[in-house]
This record gives sequence, structure tokens and C-alpha cells, in this order.
Amino acid sequence: MKAFVYQANPSRVVFGLGALQHLTREIDLLGAKRALVLSTPEQADSARRIAELLGERAAGIFPEARMHVPIATARAARNEARRLGADCAVAIGGGSTIGIGKAIALESAAEGGFPIIAIPTTYAGSEMTPIYGLTEGGMKKTGRDPRVLPKTVIYDPELTLTLPLGMTLTSALNAIAHASEGLYAPDGSPIVALMAEEGIRAAAAALPRLAANPRDLEARSDALYAAWLCGSVLGHVSMGLHHKLCHTLGGSFDLPHAEVHTVILPHALAYNASHAPEAMRRITRALGVADGPLAAATGVFDLARAHGAPTTLRDIGMPADGLDRAADLAVQNQYPNPRPLERSGIRELLQHAFDGTRPG
Ligand code: NAD
Repeated sequence: MKAFVYQANPSRVVFGLGALQHLTREIDLLGAKRALVLSTPEQADSARRIAELLGERAAGIFPEARMHVPIATARAARNEARRLGADCAVAIGGGSTIGIGKAIALESAAEGGFPIIAIPTTYAGSEMTPIYGLTEGGMKKTGRDPRVLPKTVIYDPELTLTLPLGMTLTSALNAIAHASEGLYAPDGSPIVALMAEEGIRAAAAALPRLAANPRDLEARSDALYAAWLCGSVLGHVSMGLHHKLCHTLGGSFDLPHAEVHTVILPHALAYNASHAPEAMRRITRALGVADGPLAAATGVFDLARAHGAPTTLRDIGMPADGLDRAADLAVQNQYPNPRPLERSGIRELLQHAFDGTRPG
């Protein structure tokens, strides 16, 4: 057994069909009285439904969450919380909405904190991490701060029934990406590896069932369980080349988050395959595909392609003349990755992702 350090992230998870009914109990357990309900404009109806459920415990709704958490939106949300006398927030939605909750928690940290209750409706996993992002002046800054970790997470699979199929597939692959990189993270540990392998297994098994029937509640449940595990992995360890590339492509070329993860993952795994054989074996086993040097990479690629998820950067809006700049950006800073960061190899990886070439 290799030496390791494991620091648990303290959050409470309430999981299950109909778990939303426990929301008021959970607010009471936090000692909070009045919640500001956060959502995107697209999910404003869900925010209103939550406010109704909360009755007098609802301070109001803020349905203005946006991708990449613009600082102005975060400040407007915090000011709204103050104006309405809210002492906690309930974030219903994906990573963008939970991101606004985290930004309020961060901005309020000096004033004694502001607890966030997250109700995730995608598989992105932000609810389980102390990672925040804020965009100011066109630059997205990310960081880790334990104070932004949601205190309570309510996973109710019924709330994911409305997630469109395309987003369902890419979001599940986004979860698989967290777990995959967690398996070769230098700060990994046996428990994180267990969560990662089980998360990949549950997501990969749910995906074909969801593609066949997006309203399959058992499959929705399994996918949300996977999101919890994979999000926990992301929250506990550092990520490598795959996440760095996705961050660069998303931020500099404004590509959609979950789709970029879906397209890049097979190629990032192929790049790292020879330098992380044990991680690759575990990913392969979790995907349930035959073992081989590139089996993790091809397994993820085939899973995406078989169900109609995107496999080319070209199709999700990447300009061909941006590939060189993306490769330059990817090697600008050093970060942990099993295989050393080589510009030519990364440029080749990006070309494969751009063309949608099956690894190997
Ligand atoms: P998102 O939150 O941007 O949601 C995309 C769209 O889907 C939104 O319009 C949203 O309202 C809608 N949607 C969400 N759930 C729905 C549902 N059940 N039914 C119908 N519509 C629904 O997407 P995301 O992929 O969850 O999050 C992406 C963002 O989160 C990115 O900015 C990313 O950087 C961030 N993120 C952060 C972390 C972290 O740990 N800090 C982790 C993962 C993602």
C-alpha cells in the first residue's frame, strides 16, 4: 500500500426519490430561517416550486444564474440575499447555479458565512467540491476554499427527469472525467479510487439505459449516484491534463462545458495511458470493456459515440486555427499529470479531438 493523505470534505448528503421533501428539515438542521432560492432563468419554475415548498422559510428567488459565474451576478445575488434578509441559499440546478451559491458563500465568508444547500439537477458534481470559479473582466479565476462547500446536498433523481438527453449524456461523461483523472491524481488515496471506479461503473451502466429511455427513474437514480461519487472525487484530489484542457477550451474559446469534457476525455486518456497503467485498468474494468493498452480511451470514445454524444471539437464550435493557441496555453503552467506535458503530443491530441478520430 502506498502512503497517502485523505482529508474528508464535511458535507451532508440526502439521497433518494422524493428527497426534496426533506428540504425544510435540512434548513432547520442548519439552524437557518430564510432561504434565497437560486436558479438559472431556464429553471425559474423549479425555483418557484422550491419557494412554494418552503413557504415562510423562503426569502425570495434569484433566477439569474449564468455559466462561468460573472462576478456582477454573484454580487447581485449576495445583495439580494441581504436585502431580503436571507440567512442561507438553496441552489437548484447544475454547476452554474451551484457556482453562484458558492460565490455568495465566498463573498460572505468574512461576515460569518452563508450556508448553501445544493439540489443538483445535472451530473457535473460541483455540489461535492470546495472549488469555486468567478469571471471578472473576461478572465475566469478558480480556487479551492472549504467555506464554499455546500453544507447539505439533496439528490432527488425525479428532478433530473427534465434534463434533455444530449445534456444527460455529456453531463454523465463529465462525471466520468472527474473520476478518471482522480484515479491517477498524485494526491489520490484508496478511498478516492474506490469512489472513482464505482462512479465510472454506475455512470457507464446508466448511460445506455438513459439513451433508450430518458425517463427511466432507476437509471436516473444510478446516474445521480454516479454524479455524487465522481463529484466527491473531484472535490478531494487534483485534476490533470484533461481538466486543464477543458478549462482552457471552455474559457478561451467559449465552448460548452459538458460537451468539451465529452470530446476531450478519450484523447486525454490516450495521452496518459502509458504513464498510468493501473488507473487505466480500473477505468477499463469500470466501463466493462476488454482490457488493452488504449482500452480506457476507446471505451469512453465508444460509449459517447454509440449514444450520439459529440466526439469532435469541430462540431461543438472550436475554430481550427485555435488549436495551436490551445496547445500553447495547455503547457504554459505546470500541473500534475502522469505523462509530462509535451507541446507536440498535446497538439496532436487536440487534432485528434478536433477530427473525432477514435484513439489508437
Ligand atoms: P449548467 O449548470 O450550466 O446547466 C446547463 C443548462 O441546463 C442550464 O440552462 C440549466 O438551467 C439547465 N438544466 C440543468 N439541470 C436541468 C434539468 N434537470 N432539467 C432541465 N434543464 C436543466 O451545466 P453544468 O454542466 O451542470 O455546469 C457547468 C458549469 O459548472 C461550468 O461553468 C463549470 O465550470 C461548473 N462546474 C464547476 C464545478 C466545481 O466543482 N466548481 C464542477 C463541475 C462544473
